[in-house]
Amino acid sequence: MRPEHDQRFHRIANDYLERPGGDYAELLRRGYVSSPDGVDLEQWRAEIRAHARKDKIRIATRADGTRAFAFRGPQTPEAEQLAEMTRELGRAEQLRQLAHTARELGHQPGPWLRHDTENITVCTLCTARIYARFDPDPISDGEVLSEPCQPTPTSL
Ligand SMILES: [Zn+2]
Repeated sequence: MRPEHDQRFHRIANDYLERPGGDYAELLRRGYVSSPDGVDLEQWRAEIRAHARKDKIRIATRADGTRAFAFRGPQTPEAEQLAEMTRELGRAEQLRQLAHTARELGHQPGPWLRHDTENITVCTLCTARIYARFDPDPISDGEVLSEPCQPTPTSL
């Protein structure tokens, strides 16, 4: 992994460990957030709305059947919401493809940790890492994409 990506990887991981604010914190920071894989969409929307009500912040939520989205403020135009949903679904597809590439090398990547348009994860069997960024240019880097999985017995 290139040094600058290694640096970002550690930064994102440490930020998360120090402030596990979750999706609501992400919404406040970015202005929008999408639901992680595998959650109950209605429950996720209800939790985000409950947070916002408590903070007296106006938000809008939508779901497209496979994923839910929350936006800061009802003033976000519908066209903008739809455009952001489309971008987010494209990013999710790119992450799925990276995970697929990793699995072909024997890795079992864990859930993605996200910071704006940057994403990191590690193999759950070995110590291989991956760093992926979408903007301004799509970048993906890490042992997970270039080296076969070598499970370490002590990590299990
Ligand atoms: Zn591995």
